[in-house]
Amino acid sequence: MTPWRVYAPSTPPPLYAKALGERVQWVGPFEPHQLAQHATMLREVVAVAGMGDAKVPASLMDALPALKLVSIMGVGYDGVDIPAALARGVQVSHTPDVLNDDVADLAFALMLAVTRRVVLADRMVRAGEWGQRPTPTGVRLTGQRLGVLGMGRIGQAIARRAAAFDMPVTYTARAPKPALPYAYASNAVALARAVDVLVVITPGGTETRHLINAEVLQALGPQGVLINVARGSVVDEAALLEALQQGVIAGAGLDVYENEPYPLAGLTMLDNVVLTPHVGSATPTTRQAMAELAARNLVSFLSGNGLLTPVPECAATRA
Ligand code: NAP
Repeated sequence: MTPWRVYAPSTPPPLYAKALGERVQWVGPFEPHQLAQHATMLREVVAVAGMGDAKVPASLMDALPALKLVSIMGVGYDGVDIPAALARGVQVSHTPDVLNDDVADLAFALMLAVTRRVVLADRMVRAGEWGQRPTPTGVRLTGQRLGVLGMGRIGQAIARRAAAFDMPVTYTARAPKPALPYAYASNAVALARAVDVLVVITPGGTETRHLINAEVLQALGPQGVLINVARGSVVDEAALLEALQQGVIAGAGLDVYENEPYPLAGLTMLDNVVLTPHVGSATPTTRQAMAELAARNLVSFLSGNGLLTPVPECAATRA
């Protein structure tokens, strides 16, 4: 069988490439200004395959006239221009659910690291300063009030873990979920006012841009902790930096940033912040499951059998 031509917006994720094997012939990545010079090769590309941070703008789709599918190895797909894909009849798939537990675990790792000052304590031991000065004291996480901004698949996995920490949960989302045993707040400010620790776990994109702003941070208050495991775009990073510097909130744990891989410079100078490099789903087990699901979507679709996990916008067009 002739392999399908698949465009990679960045170096193909090795696990994804392995899962697809000989069935695909990879093309790219090319810089935007190089697309025209590779037009002949790009004319036969039927799919784009990338990680959750892949950028697939309309201009790239225009360079791929035979494009049928964008297959994302990740649940977030805010880098894909969905209206442009829908307008061209291009389907988009992602890998929901298989990463819920890892991202929820990381949210708790960050909560504990910030409240118990784990990174600071680790640094002290390594520097040989134990016994030289007082050890850092933290704040008890157990019993604190947890706020979840975005009560979807991952938000619910986070809320379930909260029970083990005796943390009452309040959340907000686009719509209340009456079947869930948690309190609902009507918006981000009301949510921040009602909790001690606020975890952000909505999708990125224009709809959620800067949902966490100076007003929300003010409402979270001087004992409050912000955790962002969603997308950098959901938090106004400049407002967050100022809030952390001024003591408007107590601390933050961040896995994602507005301009990855470059956190706002001032953040790295602060002791009340724990920073991880977008590793929410980064365990071998989960990355393997994501690669397999992404590959199964691509193979199924290009073989004429449809998508297993289309993004909601594409599922809606098929219904
Ligand atoms: P999901 O099941 O679609 O849940 C998203 C939740 O966000 C839903 O509850 C939704 O509300 C809510 N929401 C959407 N727009 C909102 C708005 N404007 N205001 C308030 N709430 C809003 O998605 P998921 O699978 O849990 O994943 C969530 C996101 O996590 C992904 O999109 C991705 O960006 C991020 N993520 C990050 C990592 C990482 O490595 N750090 C890994 C995986 C995922 P409704 O329920 O009312 O629709």
